[in-house]
Amino acid sequence: MVMRRDVIVVGGGHNGLVAAAYLARSGLSTLVCEQREVLGGAAVSEHPFGPDFTVTSLSYVVSLLPPDLVADLQLARHGYHVFPQGPYFAPRVGGDYLRLPYDRTERHREISKFSVRDAGAYEEYEAHLARLGAILGPLLDEIPPRLGSRRPPDLWRQALLLRHLRKVDTRGAVDITRLLTGSIADLVERYFESDAMRGLLSVSGVIGTWAGPRSAGTAYVMLHHHIGDTGGQAGAWGFPRGGMGGVTAALAASARSFGAELRTAAPVARIRTSGGQVTGVTLENGEEVDAPVVITTAHPKIAFLRLLDPADLPADFVDDIKGWQTRSGTVKINLALGALPVFASHPDFDPQVHGGTIVLAESLNEVENAYQEAVAGRPSTAPFADICIPSVFDDSLAPPGQHVMSLFTQWVPHTFADEPDDAALDAYADRVIARLEAVAPGFTSSVLHRQVIGPHQMQAEYGLVGGNIFHGELSLGQMFHARPAAGYADLRTPVGGLYQAGSATHGGGGVTGIPGRNVVRQILADRRAARWRRRSGPVGAAAASAPR
Ligand SMILES: Cc1cc2nc3c(=O)[nH]c(=O)nc-3n(C[C@H](O)[C@H](O)[C@H](O)COP(=O)(O)OP(=O)(O)OC[C@H]3O[C@@H](n4cnc5c(N)ncnc54)[C@H](O)[C@@H]3O)c2cc1C
Repeated sequence: MVMRRDVIVVGGGHNGLVAAAYLARSGLSTLVCEQREVLGGAAVSEHPFGPDFTVTSLSYVVSLLPPDLVADLQLARHGYHVFPQGPYFAPRVGGDYLRLPYDRTERHREISKFSVRDAGAYEEYEAHLARLGAILGPLLDEIPPRLGSRRPPDLWRQALLLRHLRKVDTRGAVDITRLLTGSIADLVERYFESDAMRGLLSVSGVIGTWAGPRSAGTAYVMLHHHIGDTGGQAGAWGFPRGGMGGVTAALAASARSFGAELRTAAPVARIRTSGGQVTGVTLENGEEVDAPVVITTAHPKIAFLRLLDPADLPADFVDDIKGWQTRSGTVKINLALGALPVFASHPDFDPQVHGGTIVLAESLNEVENAYQEAVAGRPSTAPFADICIPSVFDDSLAPPGQHVMSLFTQWVPHTFADEPDDAALDAYADRVIARLEAVAPGFTSSVLHRQVIGPHQMQAEYGLVGGNIFHGELSLGQMFHARPAAGYADLRTPVGGLYQAGSATHGGGGVTGIPGRNVVRQILADRRAARWRRRSGPVGAAAASAPR
């Protein structure tokens, strides 16, 4: 007998789990199908070095998960706990370092070692970002209206969007335009003169991005990462207990507590449709599950070009998905360490240093050159690295005295997603470790185990097509109403009853849970509207069939 559920969620990453928890909490029978043996997607903790070490395989810090979502889903009750991350620490080859402590006076002193002018400019820079974050931050939580649609409900939602503009004055309008269209280099070079500041601050503009700091659009990428710190909706960056798998374990426990069923090793082979309406899914083992509503959180190229027959979708939608840009050239390196690094410039243990964001980037030009090499088809000679050691705070991750280190690095050519070059990837990882050795002598001999996850493994094993960490680049042409296709940023799809809620939808790009929460809002609103149409007979039906 074919199993039947109210809703099936394809993909057990954090967005799928958030959606499942909210759906089950609303009383809908919900089934999650995850292809891997473990839940979590890109927010997962695994044991590549055996049971002693817990590694946060891909993503490593949390900041964008809205506090009200954490409260709604009672995540603290299910083990969710975040250790605040220490500030930036950028050790340099010359034997000095740049730190950005949270304390203002201390920070001024640290930056002044490189430039007194930069120390003064930093407060202005932060204030500038805070102003922009206060305007753009709340938009992250919106379900984008269908811009350009003439249907009355869409026109109403477009008008509602204008309320955000009330906060924008003439200065703000120009600042937002420049932020959205400019590069991170445009921004940081306006404020700062020292290589140390420019290099350190340029990194958050290119994290996960197939673009160098001089490429247009990278200023916004920085703000996206910064929204959690700018009085937007979330808190500061931190390490979840148990790695990022701690977040998804709490979400899974929450979803189960509300009655959702979560299946692993359950790859979906087809999303079935009939007459333009979704009818359920078929698993790779042939099992069928019927449902009037299906949510896909898989990468859009998987969902719409493989699990569905593109011939069943409108041609312009298929064109948008085929043209979806999803490159990044990121390499994640995870290490088990026998001891903490001893930095030549700061030899003593300091939780604010070893437990901070350790950045290897000598200058903005060095970061740009690293990108240009990858564009030319060669892995970077001097890759930048954004490093953390969560075991400084979380003793569940490694045996006493030992540690796990997460290194987020860029770039190898994005084509490594399809044509991996394992030897080149290994040599690249050696160079990253050599960079650490240069600022922390003896580091190499402290490495007990290493795991190198390049674009190919991200694509083949984790479903991150093209190796992009966000299911799709955060470029201006792929944001808000354009994420991921014209007319479908509202989390619906061209197939009736089929919704989308992965990172390639608005609010996604990071462990935000926003698409997972918003899709449930959309589904419940559509169910209410359908009930209203049934009750009001021909009038309601006519409204529903009005052209877009
Ligand atoms: C190296 C790296 C570092 C990152 N660092 C951070 C960070 O520090 N902080 C942060 O906030 N974000 C970070 N991110 C981004 C963040 O992890 C992702 O944006 C987010 O986890 C994606 O969540 P999701 O639920 O939308 O998708 P995913 O986590 O990708 O989940 C989708 C799920 O669908 C499953 N799936 C695919 N096809 C099928 C199928 N046919 N049947 C069943 N299941 C299927 C996949 O296996 C996967 O589990 C990072 C990402 C990477 C790769």
